Amino acid sequence: MAVSFSATAKAEICRAFPSRRCCALAQCFGILLFCNSFSADGIRIITESRELAQTLPKLFKKAFSVQFDIVPEGETAAKMVFQITDKEKISQIMAAYGFNPTDTLALNVNLAVVEEECCKASFLRGAFLSGGSVTDPAKGYHIEITTTHGAVARQTYALMEEVLGFYPKTAVRVGTQVLYLKQSEQISDLLTYLGAPVAAMGIMEARLEKELNNKVNRRCNCDDANTSKVVEAAQEQLAAIRILRERGQFENLPKKLQQAMVARENNPESSLTELAAMMEPPITKPAMNHRLKKLVELSKEAAI
Ligand SMILES: [Zn+2]
Repeated sequence: MAVSFSATAKAEICRAFPSRRCCALAQCFGILLFCNSFSADGIRIITESRELAQTLPKLFKKAFSVQFDIVPEGETAAKMVFQITDKEKISQIMAAYGFNPTDTLALNVNLAVVEEECCKASFLRGAFLSGGSVTDPAKGYHIEITTTHGAVARQTYALMEEVLGFYPKTAVRVGTQVLYLKQSEQISDLLTYLGAPVAAMGIMEARLEKELNNKVNRRCNCDDANTSKVVEAAQEQLAAIRILRERGQFENLPKKLQQAMVARENNPESSLTELAAMMEPPITKPAMNHRLKKLVELSKEAAI
């Protein structure tokens, strides 16, 4: 199975393990608030990212000195499930964020946890790792994070504006709040901020490639149009020259027109610029155009 762009970006983000405990706590906070289930009844994190699966146990150990009760067996499953079911552990984790385990209906981003700049980044990193995805830029520009907690979505919306300088777009999808970006530059900025500069560059490269292809296509279409005009004009000139030849007009023409006529006869596919250069002495393209037009006019007079 080909590794998705999303999986590659997550792997890149996972490479940086938080060195400070405040950041480990903030990253776990992002993971928990954007994961499948975070309540007094239990914690369930489902991920397809092998790298996140490897990081999760270490991260929770650093943040809370807590181990998962259920971890995936081996790494063969496409979706790996991590769970904490022990009430004590859940209470401990909730308390670390200032929540009362008996009252977790209104989970929110406890601002004290994301006060430091380093922790803001860690929080959003966690949010993207557990509840986010980014589309392969070859297919389209889209990055999103989703959470089931309304207050969390609103606060994260403000947090993103604070650290990135722009607001994400918002949507609701079957009870889930979605924060997303559609502009390649903003997606690239977010990925860079999250610690995935290589993925960010991938977005910008895809954009450059698309722009370049568009330009080439436009130029080709333009060339085609010009080419057919040039071919039509040359055919008209060759027809005129045939008439002038048939009527024995060549000898009566001024030297300049004779030169132009011979050059066109011998070079039916040459452009005006090329023909102009063949004249003795060489002339400009408009002057060459003028001579050929004159030949066409004369052929019409001769045909009468
Ligand atoms: Zn920190």
